[in-house]
Amino acid sequence: MPLEKTKYAQAINDEILGKFSLKNRYNFLNNNLTSALSTEEFGFLRQVQRFCLKFEKQNNIKHNSDEDVYDWVPAFGEKGYITRMHPFTECDLNYKEHGLAMDFMRNLAIDMFDPQFAMGGGATVLAINPVHEHHDNVPVRIEALKEMVTGKSPGAILITEPERGSDAVHQLTTCDEQPDGSFLLNGTKIFSTNAPKSRWLVGYATAEQNNGNTMAQFLINTSWDGVNVERVYIPWVPKLFLGKETLTNARVPKEYILGPVGKGREHLFEGLVPERIAIAVMSISQCWGSLAHAVIYANLRKQFDKLILLFQGVGFLLTDLWARVTNVTLGLLKFCELFDEKMEKFGGELPPNIAQVMVASASQLKYHATMLSKDVCYECANSMGGAGLCDNTLMHDYLNISRIQEIVGGSRQIQQYIMSMSLRQLYKMSV
Ligand SMILES: Cc1cc2nc3c(=O)[nH]c(=O)nc-3n(C[C@H](O)[C@H](O)[C@H](O)COP(=O)(O)OP(=O)(O)OC[C@H]3O[C@@H](n4cnc5c(N)ncnc54)[C@H](O)[C@@H]3O)c2cc1C
Repeated sequence: MPLEKTKYAQAINDEILGKFSLKNRYNFLNNNLTSALSTEEFGFLRQVQRFCLKFEKQNNIKHNSDEDVYDWVPAFGEKGYITRMHPFTECDLNYKEHGLAMDFMRNLAIDMFDPQFAMGGGATVLAINPVHEHHDNVPVRIEALKEMVTGKSPGAILITEPERGSDAVHQLTTCDEQPDGSFLLNGTKIFSTNAPKSRWLVGYATAEQNNGNTMAQFLINTSWDGVNVERVYIPWVPKLFLGKETLTNARVPKEYILGPVGKGREHLFEGLVPERIAIAVMSISQCWGSLAHAVIYANLRKQFDKLILLFQGVGFLLTDLWARVTNVTLGLLKFCELFDEKMEKFGGELPPNIAQVMVASASQLKYHATMLSKDVCYECANSMGGAGLCDNTLMHDYLNISRIQEIVGGSRQIQQYIMSMSLRQLYKMSV
């Protein structure tokens, strides 16, 4: 099934467009990964792929500009494909295939289906994880958690403020405790992926501005008084709705406090390892998506009466990208498997020394995979000439989305800053 647009002219011939089918791109990925994956991982990857193939066909999805990716959330939620990081027994879901490695498989399949849809889902997971960690069996929190996990509503995380981006622990949004134990929130948040489409937000505020020791964490309903959400438009991901939230005496009842004053910063940091790994996973999935297009194209497109793959300028470029993507995929997979193994061994709570190494590894992988994705997606598009730039395929989505991953979840420079602190720590441990 070609991905052709209906509104503008077709630039790629029928034969090649047909060969870009999701089925063929999945086949390319699977043939690359079969030997690296366990039977369970491969089985789950195929399961999600089968669902995406059927969903695309049944709903006649062309991935063109007028489709609303948020319309697809309920169907994926019903199948349990929003997140597989946890089994979610507290929501009576009990997903058998779960953990970081299984979630990697889920994302590989969904990102190849539609990268913007996958990124929106990834942002919902950032709201899901803290509620999973801190629901304390409070019914309203479990209800909100279940709504997000099962696709009844997307979710959003509110960390960034207009004046506080990288410096996320010196927040200006305030929380004032009231005599009944509720809190009033005042301030502005920005760039919150999915917020305009979400019922649930997880937000941070501080009892004293610029004091990270007084941060708290809240579950917020967008329909509450004092919560105003506007859309921020990011042209590189035009299908995603990002929010700018103005909180004016927004009252958060007691049962929705996920982390009291003094606990907010700790809660913020505990979410960073899975968040950075999820961004690395998304980036490497985008590499495979763009590589699948470029490799299929180079094996079909002829110039000077020869397949362009056979010109070294194209063929050797693709082999270089392919080698780098394969190697980082294997590293990332190994990290996910180790993380799952250790979480199981230590009953879900990693000892501080292991957790510290994981923080550095997560930064290394996020840093490396996002830079790789930016290069690979660009070079793959470039190797396809005009076909890689026109709107007939998902290549322009890859090109644009891959440039964003370096910024979200802590910019490239912030990852380097974290890694330099780890190097200092390692030096002190070693010398
Ligand atoms: C598409 C998209 C989705 C997003 N989704 C979310 C979301 O869901 N929730 C959320 O809370 N936020 C979200 N963000 C916000 C994102 O996390 C921030 O944009 C990011 O942390 C950078 O903050 P900033 O934009 O304020 O840039 P700034 O912090 O102002 O940084 C500007 C530049 O200065 C550099 N810099 C800053 N400090 C240092 C330093 N110490 N050393 C070296 N260089 C430094 C940065 O690397 C960057 O290059 C999203 C952003 C985008 C673009």
